[in-house]
Amino acid sequence: MKVTFPHMGNQYIATKVLFEELGVDIIVPPVCSKETLEIGTKYSPESICLPLKINIGNFIESIQQGADTILMSGSCGPCRFGYYTMLQKEILQEIGHNIDFVLLDPPQGDYKTFVNRIFHITNTKNPYKIIKALAQGTKVLYQVDELDDIAYYKRPRQRKIGEVDNLLEQFQKEVRNVKGYKEMKQLVGETKEKLMAIEEDPNKEVIKVGLIGEIYTIIEPFVNLNVEKKLGEMGVELDRSLKVSRWLTEHLYLHPLGLSMEKDIIKEAKPYMKTMIGGHARETIGYAVKYAKEGYDGLVQIYPFTCMPEIVAQSILPTIEKDFDIPYLCLIVDELTGDAGYSTRLEAFVDLLKRRREMKEDAKLLSGY
Ligand code: SF4
Repeated sequence: MKVTFPHMGNQYIATKVLFEELGVDIIVPPVCSKETLEIGTKYSPESICLPLKINIGNFIESIQQGADTILMSGSCGPCRFGYYTMLQKEILQEIGHNIDFVLLDPPQGDYKTFVNRIFHITNTKNPYKIIKALAQGTKVLYQVDELDDIAYYKRPRQRKIGEVDNLLEQFQKEVRNVKGYKEMKQLVGETKEKLMAIEEDPNKEVIKVGLIGEIYTIIEPFVNLNVEKKLGEMGVELDRSLKVSRWLTEHLYLHPLGLSMEKDIIKEAKPYMKTMIGGHARETIGYAVKYAKEGYDGLVQIYPFTCMPEIVAQSILPTIEKDFDIPYLCLIVDELTGDAGYSTRLEAFVDLLKRRREMKEDAKLLSGY
């Protein structure tokens, strides 16, 4: 059995560690690329949301390297993600790939089914080994998310433009050559030290932007056309609202105990959206309010064309923009999105935010405060 899984930002790094610790033979999907998207678009329904097309591309590229089993996380929510697995299975079957799918739904208290599904793809029948590997995978997720946070801080301040991303590119290459938790932990630790050591220019003007929207789009650089790099190099310090580490902690460890890390966010969203409508629309609204209250300069929402929950969130965000006087930019991506137009919109938005910041500072000076 050779197991593969979606690439999905840095999530693949933790899944790789989890399976290596369990002794499972894996095929890590190649980095998402134009070819991945072309393959996915060719075989997926035209109007389906972009993450499914990328997944199909990832899976076919891994099948070409020998994968025969696919691991997917599931969702019981009301958006299309709930039937991604079935749809993907049918698409692959139609083109002649009879692949075994293992669906890891959030356990919702039923840990037995959850662990049994992991048993299905591992050689071990030792639940303690599985729990240990899950804990190590989760730790790695937090560690790589921390690398992203350091990169968000350093990018707008780096003296030599490009240094942060050269280092991260190198990290992504080396990830494929290390094996298991210990080696990955060491690689992440070394990369963190190098990132922290990048020289800063104290004279650079930095503005703060909250990145909100559909989770897959905001965590996968290929899908969002490297928005983090683009904005960072324009002088923007980002904060990304959604992280896979938090999503996993929430669904794997906290929900079954009736706990949540997102209570404050749901409270912030309540005046605008009272209920969960699928995807992360409620989080998009809640984080938008949170960032506005914390004095961020602007908000950028990104979502895939036809994403139902984010379309609803988009219809609410102009009200938040008005209520809190915070500029907001919405970017919708699909396989036809062109880099030049996308970058121009980002540049114009950043110019606007910088100008607003200057005007606020001038007004402060004139009023004597
Ligand atoms: S959240 Fe949006 S993009 Fe993601 S699966 Fe649901 S509808 Fe598709």
